[in-house]
Amino acid sequence: MELAYKVIEEDSKYLMQSFTRWYPLVIDHAKGSLIYDVDGKEYIDMNAGIGVMALGHGNEKVIKAVEDQMRKFFHYSLTDFYYDLAVRVARKLVSLLPFDGKVFYTNSGTESVEASIKIARGHTGRQYVIGFLNSFHGRTFGSMSFTSSKSVQRSMFSPLLPSTLLVPYPDRHNPLCREDCSSSVLSYIEDWILRKVVDPNDVAAFILEPIQGEGGVIVPPREFLQGLEKISRNNGILLIMDEVQTGIGRTGKMFAFENFNVKPDLICLAKALGGGIPLGAVVGRSEVMDLPKGSHANTFGGNPLALAASEVVLEEIPGLLSRVSKLGEEIRDILSLARSPYLDEVRGMGLMIGAELTKDGKPYEDGLAKVLNNSFKRGVLAIGAGESVVRLLPPLTIEEDLAVKGANVIKEEMEKL
Ligand code: PMP
Repeated sequence: MELAYKVIEEDSKYLMQSFTRWYPLVIDHAKGSLIYDVDGKEYIDMNAGIGVMALGHGNEKVIKAVEDQMRKFFHYSLTDFYYDLAVRVARKLVSLLPFDGKVFYTNSGTESVEASIKIARGHTGRQYVIGFLNSFHGRTFGSMSFTSSKSVQRSMFSPLLPSTLLVPYPDRHNPLCREDCSSSVLSYIEDWILRKVVDPNDVAAFILEPIQGEGGVIVPPREFLQGLEKISRNNGILLIMDEVQTGIGRTGKMFAFENFNVKPDLICLAKALGGGIPLGAVVGRSEVMDLPKGSHANTFGGNPLALAASEVVLEEIPGLLSRVSKLGEEIRDILSLARSPYLDEVRGMGLMIGAELTKDGKPYEDGLAKVLNNSFKRGVLAIGAGESVVRLLPPLTIEEDLAVKGANVIKEEMEKL
């Protein structure tokens, strides 16, 4: 760990600290689903750089596409000029959707969320946007206004965006959820918020993650998303799905909303979309994406290198979906078998998996830190979510034997608590 600690020391001197690092991994290079640190140690990648490297590291088709594009041109603002690559990727993205859509390119998740809020307000002429407790949508002011998975993410940055409301998500930790979670939460929204707090005619959109990622891999009941879709349609409110973490095949469908048989109006994407090069997008129903007055734009959105990588990603992911579902089930089964009094629940969809640890009915944060650190020492890179959830987001291409080996290490570490 000698070289690693040197980098870590310099990092604390020259970089603003994020306070979200779980263990001292200093990466040197990576191939497929294996990571090598600066001291030459090998690790199994069970987080894909937090859900980004869906096709694994060093994918030859991505490298070739980006190299070819580098020789053509690196950048030329799409806001002011045209290029066919941007059209091709947008056409491909839209072809994967269950409705006619249009695309706006960004460079990150938070920018996609910001853009979706502007589009929703611009299209409807309404001010309010309603988000959900325990969500994560990013850390710029608009997206942060709907982020509440941890208090440090928002508490000292007020005032946030006005005309926002946060309502409960159907999560078994939510006190409303002792019995029928979906209908309690839906009636809270419909009968209280939209009757007594805000006029539905002033609400532009609901924004939510179809599965909460940072909040702890919380999978809502199907009826909840379907009920929310109904409330939206009945009131002319748009439904924004933040699929930054769940999108592009992560849950075994191209988009997570497909698992719930609902149709959003706007979808926020980033992470896996650019194959490791910063790229985000808002994809929305065509009529919603045409703003009657005003516009939204940026310099770097739809950068050609990122789009070249994305074209490969969008070509390859559909062929991986059934293995994502199967392998996800296998990993969840392994984790569920852990003989640990602290393993409360294993949940997720596809290769978005969470194992929640509790002690005396409360989040077991120390347990999470131990499992992540000890797995790291044994060459497995998992990550945390929520207060005490071991989260796995491996590359969607991860070999079965590596995934099983990684899952078994985590299972054993949960058993050792
Ligand atoms: N939305 C969701 C659902 C996310 O998980 C994240 C990142 N974890 C973001 C938005 C923000 O993305 P970025 O970090 O690229 O701004």
